[in-house]
Amino acid sequence: MTTAVVVGSGPNGLAAATVLARAGVDVTVVEAADQLGGGARSVESPLAGLVQDHCAAVHPMAPGSAFFHTLDLQAMGVRWAYAPIDAGHPLDRGEPGILRTSVAETAAGLGRDGARWEAAFGPSSRAFDRLSGVIMSPMLRVPRHPLLLARMGLVAGPPPALVGKLFREERARALFMGVAAHALQPLTLPLVTGIGAGIIIAGHAVGWPVVEGGTGRFTDALVAMLRGMGVKFETGTLVTRLHELPPRDITILDVHPRAAASILAEQQPQGARRAYRSFKPGPAAFKVDFAVDGGIPWRDPELAHAGTVHAGGTAEEIIATEKQVAAGQMPERPFVLVGQQAAADPSRANGSIHPIYAYAHVPNGYTGDATEAIIAQIERFAPGFRERIVALSARTPAESETENPNFIGGDILTGAKSPLQFLLGPRLSAQPYDTGVSGVYLCSAATPPGPGIHGMGGFNAANRALSVLARGSRTPLETVTA
Ligand SMILES: Cc1cc2nc3c(=O)[nH]c(=O)nc-3n(C[C@H](O)[C@H](O)[C@H](O)COP(=O)(O)OP(=O)(O)OC[C@H]3O[C@@H](n4cnc5c(N)ncnc54)[C@H](O)[C@@H]3O)c2cc1C
Repeated sequence: MTTAVVVGSGPNGLAAATVLARAGVDVTVVEAADQLGGGARSVESPLAGLVQDHCAAVHPMAPGSAFFHTLDLQAMGVRWAYAPIDAGHPLDRGEPGILRTSVAETAAGLGRDGARWEAAFGPSSRAFDRLSGVIMSPMLRVPRHPLLLARMGLVAGPPPALVGKLFREERARALFMGVAAHALQPLTLPLVTGIGAGIIIAGHAVGWPVVEGGTGRFTDALVAMLRGMGVKFETGTLVTRLHELPPRDITILDVHPRAAASILAEQQPQGARRAYRSFKPGPAAFKVDFAVDGGIPWRDPELAHAGTVHAGGTAEEIIATEKQVAAGQMPERPFVLVGQQAAADPSRANGSIHPIYAYAHVPNGYTGDATEAIIAQIERFAPGFRERIVALSARTPAESETENPNFIGGDILTGAKSPLQFLLGPRLSAQPYDTGVSGVYLCSAATPPGPGIHGMGGFNAANRALSVLARGSRTPLETVTA
């Protein structure tokens, strides 16, 4: 029987385990942490009885992903929950920008910019079924739908700062820039729009759902399914070298490329090793989980119905703060992403107490305390927020890395999504999942299609491993010399 070890149990590792187990492979998953799931976990909130999403909360890239299409979520007991508004963007003056699943309704709320929003994102969102297969695959391929990709490229190619100029009013400009800021890169660079445009287009196609009961419910259900298929799990084991693993035919690494270089050591060809070692981390997130009585008192009450709120001010302000963060400076008023999961899933609130999730973009390895800056940024658009906080707990970039070695210096995207790293993944290759070592593949968010809960890195890497094995072109591991 073919055997495989998956190192790391993030969504990509679990997706790889699913593909392999379904192909009849005997799979073991080895995880450094005591809890399975990596960035797809739930934790107890600072106030007992509330559930918080530890990392990923909102999942625009999941429902449309080919991996998720292979899962019977209903049978697994996993349900998507949708907020009436996908994302809101408050401003100091004037109406907020409001992103809804319907592109027409979003456009209708953007005044003079409505038609431009529709022209920029409508056609791609209507073609999302076909487009998602292309954008969730390695980029260095002849695309299956070149015209669709070219159309999306008109928006995703130029820097966000330039695309933002399409819009004449601040609420549309800021709404767009807030989503573009998810790339955690200077917004003046080309291709950086790719992540934000992808999320907007996916959102207009499938929404920005949360998992009812918390993201961890999805991981729990997937792990239960895998155990039922005979997959074995070992937690609390940090893998540092290949020889620590049991004998196997296939190895899939859901780890950072730098960790992969060190695990593979001299078995990896020099060029690949150099590329993995020099794979750069991006800026970090400083996260605070709040328990808030009555939820956030936004100046504009409509924002209470948004699953996500971007508290970052105007487009120009976001461009400036993201530039600072990328340059290693902490802005006075950082970009803050606020999650109001109870707006989508009322079961997340405990009576009048709402779990609120917020993180600020901060420089990689930031050692300060951003809690006050996060509170002040929310208070700026929601006077009285501070008084409603019942409890809070903060997580620094260093703590994020300690909990998950893929988040180097608190970089939640497993590598800077700079134009080159975003396009090529960990190294220039038509096979970005190959590590250069026979039978060993990389599947983490450092590989295409990048960060997020979609499982496509793992899905693609495991399918690559199976196709190489089927062709019989794999060198048995035992013969690989050090
Ligand atoms: C604060 C925060 C908010 C986020 N918000 C969202 C969001 O709303 N929506 C979204 O789609 N995405 C979000 N993300 C990103 C998302 O969580 C990640 O992109 C995703 O989890 C990556 O999946 P992965 O499988 O590649 O790796 P991870 O989820 O990082 O999992 C990797 C696993 O491998 C383990 N591991 C690493 N090295 C080793 C080793 N050497 N030996 C053994 N085990 C090892 C780690 O402990 C970890 O469990 C967020 C992330 C953070 C931190």
